[in-house]
Amino acid sequence: MTFRYAIQTFGCQMNVHDTDRMAGVLRAAGGIAVEAVEQADLVVLNTCSVRERAEQKLRSEVGKLAPLKRARPDMVIAVAGCVAQQEGESLLKRMRHIDLVIGPDNIAELPALALEQWGGSPPVARTEFDTAAPRFLTWAPREGQEAPVVAFVTTMKGCDERCSFCIVPYTRGPERYRPAREVVNEVSRFVQAGSREVLLLGQTVDSFRDPALPPADPEDGLDGSQFPELLRLIAREIPRYRRQPSRAPGLARLRYTSPHPRHATASLARAHAELDVLAGHVHLPVQSGSDRVLRRMIRRYTRSEYLARVDRLKCSRPNLTVSTDIIVGFPGETEDDFEETLSLVREVAFVSLYAFKYSPRPHTPALRLGDDVPEAVKSERLARLFEVADVLSQKHLSGLVGTRQHVLVEGASKSEKGDLSRGRVQGRTERSEIVHIQAPGAAALVGEVVEVDITRANKHSLLAVPTEPIDSLPAPRPKLDGARRLPLW
Ligand code: SAM
Repeated sequence: MTFRYAIQTFGCQMNVHDTDRMAGVLRAAGGIAVEAVEQADLVVLNTCSVRERAEQKLRSEVGKLAPLKRARPDMVIAVAGCVAQQEGESLLKRMRHIDLVIGPDNIAELPALALEQWGGSPPVARTEFDTAAPRFLTWAPREGQEAPVVAFVTTMKGCDERCSFCIVPYTRGPERYRPAREVVNEVSRFVQAGSREVLLLGQTVDSFRDPALPPADPEDGLDGSQFPELLRLIAREIPRYRRQPSRAPGLARLRYTSPHPRHATASLARAHAELDVLAGHVHLPVQSGSDRVLRRMIRRYTRSEYLARVDRLKCSRPNLTVSTDIIVGFPGETEDDFEETLSLVREVAFVSLYAFKYSPRPHTPALRLGDDVPEAVKSERLARLFEVADVLSQKHLSGLVGTRQHVLVEGASKSEKGDLSRGRVQGRTERSEIVHIQAPGAAALVGEVVEVDITRANKHSLLAVPTEPIDSLPAPRPKLDGARRLPLW
C-alpha cells in the first residue's frame, strides 16, 4: 500500500531527528512525503513542550487541519513528540480531531497504527517508554541515496538530571544509552553515504555509558561517564576526510550536543586535546551565573565549578570557543543574581548564546517556587543579556576578518532558499561560525572542506571567498542533500 504523509516539526534537534526517524519508518511502509498537508493521508504534528505554550500551539495547528479533516474524514492526524508523551490519551478527549497520539519511544509503531486508523479503529494513544528494552531506530541509506552533509546520530535518550525547570525527564523518560557499537556503525553508514560531519545527539550527551567500552577514567572521580571513550572509538574507526585525490568518503568533523556541565570531565577535555576530528567548539548550557539560582535550579554545579570546566576545555585546544543556554527570570531571581549571570557571560566570553524567559512547565519541581519575576522584568533582562551577548559575538566575528579558515560547506545559503545556482553557499568553520561563500560555481563546494579568506563579519555570520579556483575541484557528487536545518537552539 502507498500513502502520502506530511510531518510538521516544532522544537529542538531531538525533534528534527525524530522527524527523520518517523519519515524513515513511514517510507519503509510505503509512505510518500508531501509538502502540502492538503495532499496528505497522514499528518504528523511533532510537538515540543520545553518552553512554548505548547498545548495552545498544538490546538491552533489542529484547528487549521480541522476543515481538511471534515472534507476528507479518512485523513489521519497524529500528534508526536513531547506534548504527546506528556498528555497521552487526554489529548484525544480534549481535541477531537486527533486520531493518534504517539510518544517518542513508539515511533516504530506509527505506520501500523496509522493503518489501523484507515481500517476504522478508534483513536488511540501509544506513549510507553521502552525502559526495559530500549530501541534506537537506525538510519540506513535507500538505494543510491546520499546522506546529508551533516548527519545527526542519537547516542542516548531520556534524562536523569532533575533540573527543577525542565520537563524533559518527564517527556523523554530515564536515560537509556545506545550501544557504542551501534553508534559507530551508524556513523560509519552516514560517512560511507557521503556525510562529512556527525552531530552526536543526546539530552545529556556526555553522560554516555556502555560496559563494552574501557572504564571511565578514575581521574574523573565518581562521574563514570564513558563519553570520551565513545569519541575515541569513533575517531579510531571512522576514516578521516581527505579532499584529494577524490571525493572519497570520510569524516571531517565530529560534534556533540548538549553536554551537561557536570560531565564535562578532565578526560573529555583530554579527548579534545587528542582528537583533531572533534570540532573546536562546545555548547555548554550554564542557565545562570548565580550560585543561589543554580542551587534552586538543581543544576548540581556552582558558578566556579562551571568556570573551571570551561577553562579546562579551553586549555585543551587553542582557540576553543564556547556557547551556552541561559534562562532569565527564574523564580526568585533578583537583580543581583541577574548581574552575576551577565558577569559570567562576560568572563567566559561566550561566542553565542540562546536565552529564554523562564516559563513554568507542567510536572516540574520549580512550579512550587511560583513565577514571581514579572514579565516586563524578564523581557528587560533578556534584552540586556542579548545586548552583552551581541557585543561579545560581534567582537569575536570581527576578529576573524582577514583570517584564513576551513569551512565545511553544507548547502545553499539560507537566503537563497535552497537554490544552489546563485553561487552563494554556507557552511561552518571548525569552531562553528557560519560562513557564506559567494563565488561563481560555488555549488561544487557542497560537502567539501574549503579554505577561505574571511572578508566581512555580519551580525551572526561571516562572508568569505575561496583561496583557490573552484574549477580545480573534482566534479561534485550528484545527489548530495543540501544543508540540514540548523539547530533551533
Ligand atoms: N542539556 C541541556 C542542559 O544542560 O540544560 C538541556 C537542553 S533543554 C532541552 C534546552 C534549553 O531550553 C535549556 O538549556 C534551557 O535553557 C531551556 N529551557 C528548558 N526548560 C525551560 C523552561 N522551563 N523555561 C525556559 N527555558 C527552558
